[in-house]
Amino acid sequence: MTTTVSDISREKSAELFEKAKQYFPGGVNSPVRAFKSVYGTPLFIERGDKARLWDADGNEFIDYCCSWGPLILGHNNEEIREAVQNQLGKGLSFGAPTALENDLAELILKNNSKIEKIRFVSSGTEAVMSAIRLARGYTKRDKIVKFEGCYHGHSDSLLVKAGSGLVTFGETSSAGVPKAFADETIVIALNDKEALEQVFKDFKDQIAAVIIEGVPANNGLLIQDKDYIQFLREITKQNGSLLIFDEVITGFRLGFEGASKYYDIQPDILTYGKIIGGGMPVGAYGASRELMSCISPDGAVYQAGTLAGNPVAMAAGIAALSILAKEGFYEKLEQTTGAFVDELRSFIAERNYQIKIFTIGSIFWFAFTDQEKIQRADQIDPASMEFYKKMHRELLNRGIYFGPSGYEVGFISAAHTQEDLTHTLLMIKESIDVVY
Ligand code: PLP
Repeated sequence: MTTTVSDISREKSAELFEKAKQYFPGGVNSPVRAFKSVYGTPLFIERGDKARLWDADGNEFIDYCCSWGPLILGHNNEEIREAVQNQLGKGLSFGAPTALENDLAELILKNNSKIEKIRFVSSGTEAVMSAIRLARGYTKRDKIVKFEGCYHGHSDSLLVKAGSGLVTFGETSSAGVPKAFADETIVIALNDKEALEQVFKDFKDQIAAVIIEGVPANNGLLIQDKDYIQFLREITKQNGSLLIFDEVITGFRLGFEGASKYYDIQPDILTYGKIIGGGMPVGAYGASRELMSCISPDGAVYQAGTLAGNPVAMAAGIAALSILAKEGFYEKLEQTTGAFVDELRSFIAERNYQIKIFTIGSIFWFAFTDQEKIQRADQIDPASMEFYKKMHRELLNRGIYFGPSGYEVGFISAAHTQEDLTHTLLMIKESIDVVY
């Protein structure tokens, strides 16, 4: 049996973390980065290149967190870097329209039949927050239905029974959200048709929108049945409510048309983030011409942004999406991921370990369970996260960087070489052997 290897050195990271704690709550600018639910001090990253990361202590890792999803082309991609450098010489921000916004919009709309118009913002949170306002403004209704475990950013209406950092820290709703706001957010379980029927009976003619992650991926990877998502589409339509597909993770990850294409549905509003900015802060929401005409300055739903459509970020987005738009990009990435997951599944089956790996596109998630399917947040046993914690430590010690929470998914990028993946498989197998 494999034995554990010694811990990597974290001296410099620990020093930097001590300093950061003087400046930031918990020493970080986003909670999950604090490594609270895994072993040791958070690693302070100095640089990334292709599939690799280097921390302040000089440790090298193959990265499967990929900045939580945006880096589908890996770190320091040459084309993105050149596009950004080229724009840097022309100015960082003008607060006025640029041709770059047109170019990115054109590239997206040409390859995505689900939306007719788009508005760029600066984060996924802003995109979703604006989509909710649009839905309320359009329907003239107030209530929103969301699903337990789905994370849609940190705006008030949506921090109710959310996943991501909240579930990692054992709390699924945030303090500071006014009760009156939370009362307008109804939370139901995923993959449950009866719960949907009931909510439309209980709140008849009051529901502005139902929002769901394209594929819920912030509380484990909870892949929904196709007929359930199609039912969700139908029932929202029948009740005059909008369906918001939050594709901040799945957009441009499962293809330009994201999870909407996978489920073969037409949502009313779609939200994007992460990959759309090629690693720079960009979010977006889009819908039909009719719906988007409600947005200011055409319509009465107000939404704005000093740095929205920022030229440097647009340049990065154009460079990234131009690569993704090439024939066969997604097929290749999915095949690579499929082979990687298949190999791990065979290993797990051989050893008879109680682990399942769920996957879609180039996303994967380890669940420490013997259940064949996990489609709702309450099907995850919080105690199973202890396995993740141990595995995470073993992986880091072997140069493999996974996100510091067992509720978060992993990503494979186009920068992962076959060599990287083969080595990673070996390291994962060793780590699992140690944990079990
Ligand atoms: N929606 C989903 C599905 C997300 O996964 C996230 C972030 O992880 C957000 C919205 C919020 O995006 P951001 O962190 O860019 O504000």
